[in-house]
Amino acid sequence: MSTSWENLWLDASYEAGPALSGEHEADIAIVGGGFTGLATAYFVKQLFPQKRVVVLESEFVGFGSSGRNTGISGATLGHSLLRLQKKHGTEPVARLQQLSLQSFLLVEELIKKHHIDCDYERNGLLLVAENEKQLRLLEKEAKACEEVGAKAAWLDGNAARSMFGGLDVLAGLHHAEQATLNPARFARGMKRVVESLGVEVYESSRCTRIECGRTARLQTPGGAVRAPVVVMATNAYSNPLGLMRRKVVPFYVYNIATEPLKKAQMDAFGWPKRPTVFNMKHMFWVIRLTADNRVVFINNDALYFYDVDRDYSHRPRQYQNHYELLVRMFPFLNGIKMTHHWGGRIGMTLSFLPCVGRGGEHGNIYYSMGYNGHGVAFSQMAGKMLAALIAGEDSELTSNMLINKAVPGIPTALFSYLGINGYKMMYRIDDWLLS
Ligand SMILES: Cc1cc2nc3c(=O)[nH]c(=O)nc-3n(C[C@H](O)[C@H](O)[C@H](O)COP(=O)(O)OP(=O)(O)OC[C@H]3O[C@@H](n4cnc5c(N)ncnc54)[C@H](O)[C@@H]3O)c2cc1C
Repeated sequence: MSTSWENLWLDASYEAGPALSGEHEADIAIVGGGFTGLATAYFVKQLFPQKRVVVLESEFVGFGSSGRNTGISGATLGHSLLRLQKKHGTEPVARLQQLSLQSFLLVEELIKKHHIDCDYERNGLLLVAENEKQLRLLEKEAKACEEVGAKAAWLDGNAARSMFGGLDVLAGLHHAEQATLNPARFARGMKRVVESLGVEVYESSRCTRIECGRTARLQTPGGAVRAPVVVMATNAYSNPLGLMRRKVVPFYVYNIATEPLKKAQMDAFGWPKRPTVFNMKHMFWVIRLTADNRVVFINNDALYFYDVDRDYSHRPRQYQNHYELLVRMFPFLNGIKMTHHWGGRIGMTLSFLPCVGRGGEHGNIYYSMGYNGHGVAFSQMAGKMLAALIAGEDSELTSNMLINKAVPGIPTALFSYLGINGYKMMYRIDDWLLS
């Protein structure tokens, strides 16, 4: 599949590994070579160094969201803890918050331990209020953070503008425990690590069919794997295999990146500690810096399409809209070149929470997906949870509120299209009221 639409992270230096050929027997077969699949392989190998673990990836490692995201590794499972708290209650969100913080620390630990060169920068995150209405909402957000135990510091206008001077914001909420990285390099680094542990990663090896059984058989064009344990790490690409249909639905989000900023532009931003910056809307914008001082910008007006099996990752009109918004918000960027633009699928769930668990007639199909746009850090914890489930552990990793939680779905394609776009319309109205 083509990725020629200029993804900043997926540079051409990568040489994909071999495709699966012939018949194989493995202990664990993992479908999907993104963050989740690789993290699961990693943690399984920590528990069972002798087991034969095979990863099947339809294109190449990082082809999915893992190589296309904005590269924000966060210690929260949502952009707004206030909204999560309203939906799920204080106590559950407080427990999730602990898990999210551990996920964030886990990414940091893996990068350090295995010397993964992925431009990791613990630069924090700043939520900003652009007007009085957003200020009221940000105050409620600060209270929610306190109630669920997320560390966040309130910044008045002056303090917020000294952290990010590009906008005349009224206040900010600063989460120190957030970082940026180059996600494709992180995924490729994890591939190197798991291979060094003996995991076999086969690329260009789409799993076209799974014959379930006590020992399942996974078919690819060039060969097959038989394994008693299968892990589905296919995220928003799961529909063709019939898994989580209309439970984990693909939403499309688009990124743009500019040429590296000149000194005058950096000065105009006034961005000394380089935090990623978000606003408070449902369809929030996000701006971050890369290691070479490019701006990566995303307007999170995520799109949902009727045909969930078709790919809508490349949308020139979206790139242009993003670019125009960027330059309107930051006029000192006028004339800057948009050097990269790309899109990808987010796996969304109706609960806004990930689905992690175990199922199938023989109880040997494990899955984790649907991180609602917050999977950079959480996917690593998901891998650890799946490994613990496979090992039959009884711990917080295997008994937390996400495990085997019933996932609400939408019965038909038409309902999902109308329902989801109806929901989005409500969000748009909400956002308009915050303008
Ligand atoms: C534009 C964008 C921006 C985002 N920004 C952020 C962010 O800044 N921070 C954050 O935390 N999260 C972000 N996310 C979400 C995050 O990227 C995902 O949650 C995370 O990458 C999910 O990882 P994964 O391994 O579960 O899924 P994926 O990376 O999607 O991996 C699934 C893999 O499975 C493979 N596959 C599918 N079907 C088959 C099959 N039949 N056989 C073999 N292989 C198969 C696919 O090719 C793919 O490589 C963003 C997502 C997008 C799209």
